Amino acid sequence: MKVLVYSTRGFERPYIDAANNSKHELSFISDSLSSATAIKAVGYDAISIFSSDEACFLTLEKLRSFGVKYISLRSVGYDNVNIKAAKREGIKVANVPAYSPYAIAEHAVALLLALNRKLIEANANIKRFNFDLNYLTGFDLNGKTVGIVGTGRIGSVMTKIMNGFGCTLLGYDVQEDNLLEERYGLQYVPLETLCENSDIISLHVPLNSDTHYMINEDLLDKMKPSCYLINTARGAVVNTEDLIKALESKSIAAYGMDVYENEKGLFFKDLSREIPEDDMLLKLIAMPNVLVTGHQAFLTTEALKNIAETTIYNLDCWEKGTTSDNEIIT
Ligand code: NAD
Repeated sequence: MKVLVYSTRGFERPYIDAANNSKHELSFISDSLSSATAIKAVGYDAISIFSSDEACFLTLEKLRSFGVKYISLRSVGYDNVNIKAAKREGIKVANVPAYSPYAIAEHAVALLLALNRKLIEANANIKRFNFDLNYLTGFDLNGKTVGIVGTGRIGSVMTKIMNGFGCTLLGYDVQEDNLLEERYGLQYVPLETLCENSDIISLHVPLNSDTHYMINEDLLDKMKPSCYLINTARGAVVNTEDLIKALESKSIAAYGMDVYENEKGLFFKDLSREIPEDDMLLKLIAMPNVLVTGHQAFLTTEALKNIAETTIYNLDCWEKGTTSDNEIIT
């Protein structure tokens, strides 16, 4: 199968080549998919895209007219693809549903620990031979209440890890998992109750019409002023404008973010020689109690290997005329 791989980054190419083992005819480009770059897919049977690519109705219409029949996503989330439109255009879409929930949950913990124990400031101080400990006080995680919003694959791993730290666990999900209640004592509560009672809140829901701006002014107001909010899910699960107000008015204590609602066009690029035109992001980056990583929670060797292998597996299924179990059906 002839496949155009959009948004290829240097770090993933060796994993994709190894998984492909010369089976499919792959072409790699660094451009992200948009209605303007869809033209590059002329003559290809399939494309592979990442979460930074945009497969809206117009783009899908163009892809179909260029002969593209399949889209193999190199991500769990598929909020960037108009699935209904893809179905109408007869384009099959598959994702990588579980490449490594550990990678994301462990990154959420890394954000939490780095923020709480002031690791970034401490390291910067020490690089200047400043061994003063003032302003570096954190808190014990042991005994704290952690709210897990979305207790699916990643939220379950987060639950297990935070249970290991000796935390009390609250959960919120539209589908409750009894195993988490039995094993880790997680207690499912309404979202408002979770927000009111948690010392730490970690977000693990997909972005959809129900979760868009799920964390808004109302819920931020209900959180404890000492609350640490961690978002490794999707930027738009949080209303960023409301979040900035909450941080400015000290109605929450800190925010760890790997995702940002306007990250498209910014994240995954080296913009070190220009100032990003995004006042909300500049404000967040400037805040001492905000820690930003640029959508790198998935970036472990294990996850990259699994992403590459599942991406090729999805293409293999389509080439054989079978249905991949990872196909997204509305
Ligand atoms: P999952 O499908 O296993 O779990 C998601 C959970 O959210 C499910 O239990 C589901 O019932 C629940 N949920 C869905 N809609 C809800 C709603 N309206 N209210 C409450 N709960 C709801 O998915 P996962 O593998 O755990 O991944 C979760 C999300 O993490 C992905 O969709 C993706 O957006 C994000 N993610 C981020 C990165 C990263 O690099 N930062 C990497 C992978 C995944």
